[in-house]
Amino acid sequence: MSFWKKFTQAGLALSLVAVGLVGCGGGKETSSAGGESKAPAAAVKTLDEIKKRDKFVVGVKYDTNLFGLKDPGTGKVEGFDIDISKAIAKKILGDENKIELKEVTSKTRIPMLKNGDIDAIVATMTITEARKKEVDFSDVYFKAGQSLLVKKGSPIKSIADIKPGTKVLGVKGSTSVKNIREKAPNASVLEFENYSEAFSALKAGQGEALTTDNAILYGMMKQDPNYEMVGNNFTDEPYGIAVRKGDTDFVKTVNDTLKELKDSGEYAKIYEKWLGEKPKE
Ligand code: GLU
Repeated sequence: MSFWKKFTQAGLALSLVAVGLVGCGGGKETSSAGGESKAPAAAVKTLDEIKKRDKFVVGVKYDTNLFGLKDPGTGKVEGFDIDISKAIAKKILGDENKIELKEVTSKTRIPMLKNGDIDAIVATMTITEARKKEVDFSDVYFKAGQSLLVKKGSPIKSIADIKPGTKVLGVKGSTSVKNIREKAPNASVLEFENYSEAFSALKAGQGEALTTDNAILYGMMKQDPNYEMVGNNFTDEPYGIAVRKGDTDFVKTVNDTLKELKDSGEYAKIYEKWLGEKPKE
């Protein structure tokens, strides 16, 4: 039985939304400065830009096994988020290869989207109320929850074992570092630029635990079986695809793509390819 299966069966891990794709976001605010009723702000039309350019430029992770990971040998970037991105390119442009991947980290993804460097973020990104003030989100396309990764044999078996001064490693700009400060205020949290740096730091003994989403930790366990996830998920982390605020046509197209993927069974295939089991309905 795969680790992932074990975790999901034990109810400790991610249960998939897939079905019914819960509506979140897609808000319609087009802000006008000062609140005066002048002409409404120009609608954001990323969909038109993608069609004109004949390419979908998407921000993905390059260091996150199973979701977006660059193979240093081949230079190829692969993962669950890449396959979802390709499906969006296919829906808009008729060809899944009409895509350009750009690396984002948890810290850089929103600024890069706002700057226009990328059309969308498909990068293990949790839908939160705070982030909804800055970007619009698609429906949920993956459900994760925050957990802990430790070296096998560690005395830390759950979040309750985090004592004053326990060093917990995380990544800048993630919900994980914010959540752990709330849930384990005694922890001493060390923040890294990305997940490969954080995992290297755990292996180098710079901290006793690494915290982020169970799905990401699962990918790390697969890379190095000396490490294991412990305890239950202590948050819900529903992933959404982020676009610029007011980009309503684009959000609709992304949501239509997600629904079609689900209805056709393609979503289940992608899920199984990366997570090693079928999504739960
Ligand atoms: N899903 C969490 C977040 O959006 C953690 C994973 C990540 O850092 O991308 O912050």
